[in-house]
Amino acid sequence: MIGREFWDITPIFEGKPPRLKQKIVCPVCGSDVIYFKHASGFYRGNGQYRLDIVVKCGRCALVITFGVHITEEEFNKLSKSKARLEYKDIGHVNLNEEVAR
Ligand SMILES: [Zn+2]
Repeated sequence: MIGREFWDITPIFEGKPPRLKQKIVCPVCGSDVIYFKHASGFYRGNGQYRLDIVVKCGRCALVITFGVHITEEEFNKLSKSKARLEYKDIGHVNLNEEVAR
């Protein structure tokens, strides 16, 4: 499933931001301060589901979206808790800092 090599999405079912499995840097300015912005699940069609994970560079403000593949079961689990998680709900989280822990 595309994106799962980079993202552990399990925390999102408990209202926490998804966890990066490896550090990423901004493709524009090279900063490693990458904030979680929001994540939301959706049905793509043809029996396929996605979790859009949106992050923002803490230096140049570039916003990037990862379209991570999820299963129907995961999507349903997400819809039961909350289909959309906002940074406002959890504060500013530098996702790269979470990798080191
Ligand atoms: Zn940047």
